[in-house]
Formats: sequence, C-alpha cells, structure tokens
Amino acid sequence: MPEAKYLLVGSSHAALEALRSIRHFDPDGSMAMLTRDVYRPYSPTILPYVVSGRSKPAAVMLRDEAFFEANNCAFVPEAVAQSLDAKARTVRLENGESWRYERLLIATGAAPAIPPVKGIDDVRFHVLRSLEDATGLRSAMGSSRHAVVLGAGLVGLHAAENMAEAGLKVSVVEMQGHVLPGYFDAKASERIEAAFTGHGVKLYLNHKVVAVEPRDGGHSCAVHLEDGKVLQADLLLVATGVRPVTDWLNGSGIAVDKGVLVDEAMRTNVEGVWAAGDVAQAVDFHTGQPALIGIIPTAVEQGRIAGQGMADDPYVKAYPGGIPVNTYRFFGRVALSIGQAAASGDVEVSEHDDGGYRRVVLSDNRLVGYASVDEPFDVGIMGELIRRKVDLTAVKDAFIARPVETGRRLMSEQWR
Ligand SMILES: Cc1cc2nc3c(=O)[nH]c(=O)nc-3n(C[C@H](O)[C@H](O)[C@H](O)COP(=O)(O)OP(=O)(O)OC[C@H]3O[C@@H](n4cnc5c(N)ncnc54)[C@H](O)[C@@H]3O)c2cc1C
Repeated sequence: MPEAKYLLVGSSHAALEALRSIRHFDPDGSMAMLTRDVYRPYSPTILPYVVSGRSKPAAVMLRDEAFFEANNCAFVPEAVAQSLDAKARTVRLENGESWRYERLLIATGAAPAIPPVKGIDDVRFHVLRSLEDATGLRSAMGSSRHAVVLGAGLVGLHAAENMAEAGLKVSVVEMQGHVLPGYFDAKASERIEAAFTGHGVKLYLNHKVVAVEPRDGGHSCAVHLEDGKVLQADLLLVATGVRPVTDWLNGSGIAVDKGVLVDEAMRTNVEGVWAAGDVAQAVDFHTGQPALIGIIPTAVEQGRIAGQGMADDPYVKAYPGGIPVNTYRFFGRVALSIGQAAASGDVEVSEHDDGGYRRVVLSDNRLVGYASVDEPFDVGIMGELIRRKVDLTAVKDAFIARPVETGRRLMSEQWR
C-alpha cells in the first residue's frame, strides 16, 4: 500500500499552501498530493477567462512537474478519494487503491450545488468549477444562441458577461431581489445590474425556477418560472452556489456540519486530520461562529495554518477568523465588497453615490464592512482596518468622505 507521512487530498489553493508551509519546516517527510483532477493544479478563478478564450487551457497551471520534484511531493492525478478510515489512517480511492498516512489534510474544496428543480436530471446543463466545465461551456457557447443562467452570484455573472460578449442572448434568473446578494446592497447592485442590462442581458430578479424540460430532442430546454413565464435555452448554466465536498467522509467519524468543522488550528475532531479551504467550516471573524467562506485568501491562510500544524511548526498562530472579500470586474468596471458590506441593523451605514458608489459600515466607530462600485479601492487597507478593529472616532468624517486616502494614512501610522 502506498504511504506518505503527509497526505494532501485536493490540489488547489489550500493544499498548495499547506505543501509550502510543511516544506518550510520539514524538508524531508514523505508527501503525496492526491487529486481527482486530470491536470496539474490550477485556480478556479481562471475559469471565466478560459470560457472567454483569453486564457488557453494548457497555460493555466499554477505549478509544473519540476515544482513537485523540487518539493519531494508525489503528485497523483485522477485519484478520487472515496472513503476515509480514520482508525487505520487510510484513504481509499475510487480505483480501489488505498493510501496510508500519518497526517492527513482534507482540501477537497467545494462543488456546484444543484437545486432540486423539477426535471433538472432530464436536461443537459453546465456548471463552472473545473477546467473541463470551462472548456465544455466554451464549446457549447459556439453552437448556442439563447443562454439561461440560474443564479446571479459571482460565477453566474462572470459567465453571463462572457456569453453576452460572445454574442449570445443571455437571461439570468435570480431568486433574490438583486444581483450578488450577500456581497452588495441593493444600490450597489443596481449599478452592476445596469451594466448587464446595458449589454443586453435580461435579468429576472425575484424569480424562481420551478421546472425545466427538454425540447428539440434534448438539444434545448424550456425553463419554467414560478409566475408562469417560460424561457427557452439552448445553453443552461446552473450557478446557484456551491457545497463543500464531504461525501467521501461519510462514516469516517469526521465532524461535518455544512463543511468539515475545524478549530483555530484547522484540526478536525479526529487526531491526525486537518481540513482547510472551501471544504472547511472555520470560525467567522465577525460572528465568532463556524461559517463557510469560499474565497482564495481564506483557503490560503487556512492551508498555511494546517500545514504548519501538520509539520509541528511551533510558530503556528491561531486562525483569526475569515473575512469575506471579493473584488469584482464586470464590463471593464470594478467593484469591491469586504466584510459585512451589505449589513444593516445594528450598524452605522454611510452611502455616497457621487460618480462612484461606496458604502461604509461601522460598528462602534470601527469598520466592519465596505463596498464600492466604480471607485478606486485598496483591499489591503480595508482588510487591515477591519481585522485590527482600528478605532476611527477621531477621523470618522474624513474616513467616510475619503476612505482610501484616510485609511492609508491611518494604517501607515499603525504599521510604523
Ligand atoms: C468561476 C470561479 C471564480 C472564482 N473567483 C474567485 C475570486 O475572484 N476570488 C476569490 O477569492 N475566490 C474566487 N473563487 C473561489 C475560489 O476559487 C475558491 O475559494 C478556492 O479555489 C478554494 O480553494 P480550495 O483549495 O479550498 O478548493 P478548490 O479550489 O475547490 O479545489 C478542490 C480540490 O480538491 C480536489 N478534489 C475534490 N474532490 C476530490 C476527491 N474526492 N478526491 C480527490 N480530490 C478531490 C479537486 O480536484 C481540487 O483539486 C472562484 C471560484 C470559481 C468557481
């Protein structure tokens, strides 16, 4: 049976960062990275560019063979983890092979969540999470005219933009009242929505899909909305969110809620097993409760902490909690959402709509959220102000009027 001191399951941001931090402290311990992917590691964030044709699939890999050789790590593609025996410390693969480990990292990320819409199993639809998904979507675009996208989150809107620019007639159906719910408030979203409708994309907000059915011998489908409207699609993209990939952990004793539950050192409840990235449900910076925050900065930070713990690095620091952050580019324009940017209620909100739009969310005179559209931003500064809970009392008006400039000045004093 093949074995490794460090066994990493998954080959994306979290696993790569764990590899780096393990090797920082332990250059020799045997290591293997197993992945269901056929390809060497790549980032899902590149996929919209593969769909648009700006990035060639062969050129998106984050690491080459020499990297794995130099790091003395066996890279094992097409290795789909099927089950975990935590007592025997083995991972069983779909191909029947088993790997023994001393320390295991669960970094299997997230996969598209398919909503329980009537008829969904009877129609052809696309998702966007893997390189195969992206190349499949790109080639379907070439032979399609009418696309329907379910979900107006980041993935759905990225794809809708690409398809609109490629000349398809695109409709986006979203259950919530505005696009990118959770990241932006309604006013910020209005600007983004206007950019989409201005490029011919039809937005069906506050609309629910109740059924889909094949048409034209399965080459297209009809999308039925709750209010009786019917949209015709020869390309259907389901982008209604993701769910952590935890099915292979069933029966293993690993505690799973929405994702794998971890402590501040990314340890699971089972000795010798860590989890990091989109698969992990770690503490949220704002609420102190376990939450899923599916972004790269979180995956990287968690991967680093997990790797340090796996290698017994004494300098490992506790995970401070995840802060959601997204920078979003659409039709040549920019938007930022960080922290509790869409929050209302027990917070002080200041909105400015003067050319650009920005929304500053304060709690007890400390920044807890920030959103901007069509304005220059500085993610690092806003992130540090939130993370350090910097008291803005003395500069509050200036900060609200000129957040980037004032934030930079403040942080330059803090960093000194
Ligand atoms: C289109 C798109 C755009 C995005 N844009 C941004 C962005 O702009 N900014 C941002 O911060 N985040 C973005 N994200 C989210 C970001 O990609 C994720 O947060 C990040 O990739 C998480 O990394 P991860 O290592 O946890 O897992 P993932 O990237 O999900 O990778 C999981 C890995 O596990 C492997 N795997 C899964 N199941 C198994 C199994 N059973 N056995 C073996 N291997 C398995 C997969 O093959 C893969 O290698 C985007 C995501 C998508 C899909």
